[in-house]
Amino acid sequence: MERAGFHPSRRLGQNFLLDDNMARAIASDAGVTPGRFTLEVGPGCGFLSVHLAHAGAQLLCVEIDGRLAPIAREFLAPYPRAEVIEADVLESKSRLAPAVLERLPRDGAWTLCANLPYSISGPFLATVAQLDHPPARVACLVQKEVAERLASEPGDATWGPLSAAFQEAYEVKLGRFVPPQLFWPRPKVDSAVFLADLRPDLALPEERARRMQFYRDLMQRRRKSLRRVLSDLVGGASAARGLEALDLDPLRRAETLSLPELRALEREVRVDV
Ligand code: SAM
Repeated sequence: MERAGFHPSRRLGQNFLLDDNMARAIASDAGVTPGRFTLEVGPGCGFLSVHLAHAGAQLLCVEIDGRLAPIAREFLAPYPRAEVIEADVLESKSRLAPAVLERLPRDGAWTLCANLPYSISGPFLATVAQLDHPPARVACLVQKEVAERLASEPGDATWGPLSAAFQEAYEVKLGRFVPPQLFWPRPKVDSAVFLADLRPDLALPEERARRMQFYRDLMQRRRKSLRRVLSDLVGGASAARGLEALDLDPLRRAETLSLPELRALEREVRVDV
């Protein structure tokens, strides 16, 4: 790539995974079976894509960079079930591009697997968790801090709005660590895979979106007391009633609430909003 005069774009998070064993391992983490619809964001040249295609995925790759999409297409030519489209996967911060949305399955389990560009990983994953029909399995390589945040638990230093919102839809586990020297160019940060499976008790899309928004509002000021943050959100009287009904200490910080507590609180104060 260097010899061909290709200059990777930092803005587009272009750190290519050059280690083929690692790419194969990540594709295997995704657990793709023949015929399984799989979305890959940012195939780059297709180094990860080829392993997904080889596993028999019905693969949709979405690449923003017009220099790379044709390379990925050529690399994937032996796999007729693989398609590469040139597009920004996000139309806005919280909406997928129509060209992607219209190709996603409306029923049946599907998979998301990618070496995600760092700049969009947070908003993109939050958007995915709010889809009407989200992927049943997600296996993505992201900045290690993001993987830790997604897999963290209340009380961890990394627990925050993205953790709570994503875990409303997914059970998340930290996966393999990927050191900077396996990429070109080398990122300044460590990377890690996270694995996520859709919760069996997944709420309907509207309900999910409402809960996620509530968690985000509450966790934006997660070091403040529940009484204070909740009063600002729903008014002092409703906040006091909700906390009392659930027997929650008003002086607890929002960041200490578990997901079941967050859910219960959202339900409790909703009628009052
Ligand atoms: N999958 C390749 C690999 O593992 O070597 C490349 C991964 S690189 C970290 C991220 C890729 O995402 C780049 O190819 C970049 O051009 C692409 N990309 C960045 N922003 C994007 C967006 N908004 N929509 C689609 N692709 C994007």
